[in-house]
Amino acid sequence: HAKSDHRRQFRSYEPVMLANHTALKQLDHDLEKGLKEGQFTLHYQPKIDLQTGLVVSVEALLRWHHPDRGNVPPDMFIPRAEANGTIIEIGDYVLREACRQAQHWREHGHPTLTMAVNLSTVQVYQADLLERVKQALTQSGLPAEALELELTESGLMQDMDTAVSVLRQLVELGISLSVDDFGTGYSSLAYLRRFPVDALKLDKRFVQDLEAGAGEEAETVAEAVLAMARSLSLICVAEGVETPAQAAWLKERGCQQAQGYLYGRPLPPEQCEKLLGPQAGSSLSAEP
Ligand code: C2E
Ligand code: MG
Ligand code: MG
Ligand code: MG
Repeated sequence: HAKSDHRRQFRSYEPVMLANHTALKQLDHDLEKGLKEGQFTLHYQPKIDLQTGLVVSVEALLRWHHPDRGNVPPDMFIPRAEANGTIIEIGDYVLREACRQAQHWREHGHPTLTMAVNLSTVQVYQADLLERVKQALTQSGLPAEALELELTESGLMQDMDTAVSVLRQLVELGISLSVDDFGTGYSSLAYLRRFPVDALKLDKRFVQDLEAGAGEEAETVAEAVLAMARSLSLICVAEGVETPAQAAWLKERGCQQAQGYLYGRPLPPEQCEKLLGPQAGSSLSAEP
């Protein structure tokens, strides 16, 4: 009896496997083709200083427009690009293009703007990451101090010793580092201390529940992350801020920066540019 059940299961499973396999092969092919044909672009989303309300930085977010699939969200294709290795070339494009755009903006009225780029865990553990980052900086003329890399908590925990050494080399160049989606993993204060990072990005799932009494757990996590950031002298950046109430809650508790639809969605460069006001503390940005 058990045996026939098993067989039936096996038989019905097989076509699914084949379908998945075909679909994955097609996706692999489409990713390669997308790279060659320039289907990838970047959108930019501002990061705001909660005290001044000014844009301090922008984050580059990858967009893929496929002729038949339409717009494919990063969460749908990045895991596959990581699995088949195309993330290395895609990530290289992101680094080069984001650095180029940042330097363009810095030379055109926004001299203190900094650019944040998301790094895949696969890139973190890639032997020539440092070379690729240096190349993007050299080609664009962007100073390392104007580049910030966002890494995920789970990625850093995968192989801590290697991650610490890679991060140290990036910091040595002058780049700043932040831990993305923070609060979702299991980094203790003790682990976090080992990484030379500058900022923690509080994951948007907690920010979204920061009001209306519904968010007791979110408040607890947010308060813990803010306390952790404070005790390590790190900046806390809240992701996914959509309402003034969320922003007020965060500001009251010392959160320094915020990002979210309340301030601006990720936008193509021409549209994001309109959100970049004159930069605080910059004499160069004053009109003659
Ligand atoms: P992330 O780096 O944590 O980026 C934040 C995500 O939240 C973005 O989704 C952004 O569009 C979205 N978001 C921003 N503000 C709000 C808000 O107020 N409300 C809500 N509901 N969402 C908001 P997106 O662009 O779909 O990117 C998803 C993830 O894909 C990113 O999360 C990042 O992990 C990854 N990703 C995006 N671009 C790249 C890239 O160039 N390289 C790598 N390796 N990963 C990338
Ligand atoms: Mg990010
Ligand atoms: Mg995030
Ligand atoms: Mg995220």
